[in-house]
Amino acid sequence: MVPHPRGAGRYAPSPSSDLHLGNLRTAVVAWLMARTSGRDFLLRIDDLDVERSRVDVAERQLADLAALGLDHDREVMWQSERADAYTAALASLDTYECFCTRREIADAVRAPHQQPDAYPGTCADLTEAERAERRRERPAALRVRAHGVQHTVTDLWAGEVTGCVDDFVVRRNDGTAAYNLAVVVDDAAVGVDQVIRGADLLNSSPRQAWLAEQLGHRAPTYGHAGLAVTADGRRLAKRDGAVTLADLAEVGVDTADVLGQVAVSLDLATPGEAVTAETLRSRFDPAVRPGPWIVGEGAGPVRGRR
Ligand code: GLU
Repeated sequence: MVPHPRGAGRYAPSPSSDLHLGNLRTAVVAWLMARTSGRDFLLRIDDLDVERSRVDVAERQLADLAALGLDHDREVMWQSERADAYTAALASLDTYECFCTRREIADAVRAPHQQPDAYPGTCADLTEAERAERRRERPAALRVRAHGVQHTVTDLWAGEVTGCVDDFVVRRNDGTAAYNLAVVVDDAAVGVDQVIRGADLLNSSPRQAWLAEQLGHRAPTYGHAGLAVTADGRRLAKRDGAVTLADLAEVGVDTADVLGQVAVSLDLATPGEAVTAETLRSRFDPAVRPGPWIVGEGAGPVRGRR
């Protein structure tokens, strides 16, 4: 895997359930951002969570992206095949074992300046004897020592985002690499220098950018696209009716209709207009922020053109 001089963007679904309209729209935006900036567009399956990841779901996600006309470069990367790379990265970080349960972390007393969700540092300075004792009770997670630094990223659309980097988990206590580590290692390994994803991950970006630098990489450019929401402001979910390509097809909305509705939501088409991914590419302006999409407004996703 050799980083390409052109740079790359990517889309990286977790294969726990089929892609819904919001995921599909984010993928379209990521593809447009990569393709209109001369970058490669890569796909990665984030299947580290063995309990929730399913190969058949991953295959359907890839098929859905292809059906929308989002072509990709190089081979699809699967996080489940990348354990060696994560182990190597962990070895280069200043980490410590953490034995805390979620409950203990939630109940811990924090210093006034600490964010409520920041790790309070309980296990940061255990002695070797204390660690040996705790290891008998439960397996340890590994946390990276970040010393509570502030880190700022500049999001393409949201502007400057500053976050306090706490000692976050880089290896879970089941031995698997943690999401924040895996994402950073994988993006760097294949030269991803543009990360476009949903706004729910905006707050992860200061930690991830900081970690990239700790690992000797240049942090990518970030752009967080607005999420798909329901008319009453909730994040779109599977229970909101026909929201995947397969479900929509059953109610008579075909893939071309869905792409058309995504395009309308991005102001790249008028309702009912037939478009292809290539049409959108010629109309797309990367400077325009893709805001939230209120699904169900206007034409609505569950009504087709027929
Ligand atoms: N796999 C993550 C998700 O589906 C996204 C990772 C990323 O884009 O950084 O939420």
